[in-house]
Amino acid sequence: MTGIRETVLKAVESVYPAKNLIATDGESPVKECPRCGVCQDDDAERCPRDDATLADGPPGERVLDGKYRLERRLGRGGMGVVYQGTHLALQRAFAVKLLHSEGEDGFAA
Ligand SMILES: [Zn+2]
Repeated sequence: MTGIRETVLKAVESVYPAKNLIATDGESPVKECPRCGVCQDDDAERCPRDDATLADGPPGERVLDGKYRLERRLGRGGMGVVYQGTHLALQRAFAVKLLHSEGEDGFAA
């Protein structure tokens, strides 16, 4: 599975460069599937792909900076979590790295 994820990430990054965005603290309006990583709006309760109960996603808005909508978690790394995102204006896929914010899950920079 890791190999597939890396391949997807590279393909996505070749379409549009990754952009580092720092997640904001506080509420988590994004829901995320613990099985496949798909992102949904806060009012969704179950994954449309595998019917799993959604968990809280990353803190902050699902649409980052008013431009980039989180679609699916691709993987986790030491610096944060990588998501597939869509640039809403361009309607193109790209990779978003969400950096861990201080104090989250005991992560220390
Ligand atoms: Zn799912």
